[in-house]
Amino acid sequence: MSYYIYENWQAKDFNGPKIHQSDCGFCQNGQGMIKDAEKGKHGVWIGPFDDLEFAREYYRTHFTEPIIEDSCVRN
Ligand SMILES: [Zn+2]
Repeated sequence: MSYYIYENWQAKDFNGPKIHQSDCGFCQNGQGMIKDAEKGKHGVWIGPFDDLEFAREYYRTHFTEPIIEDSCVRN
């Protein structure tokens, strides 16, 4: 299992970057959903991270928001 951080700077309701697990339907191993056809236009997937802690550490050092994890993340 690996982890990704999704950062979308276009969505109005975006609360901040969110950590996803690779098997999440939204994440799909960092490829995103089919409608995200133009990579990087609205957001980017950062990763993969082999360990959830690596993703959290990256988050802490790159973003000011409190860490947000999607419900797909299982500890
Ligand atoms: Zn997810």
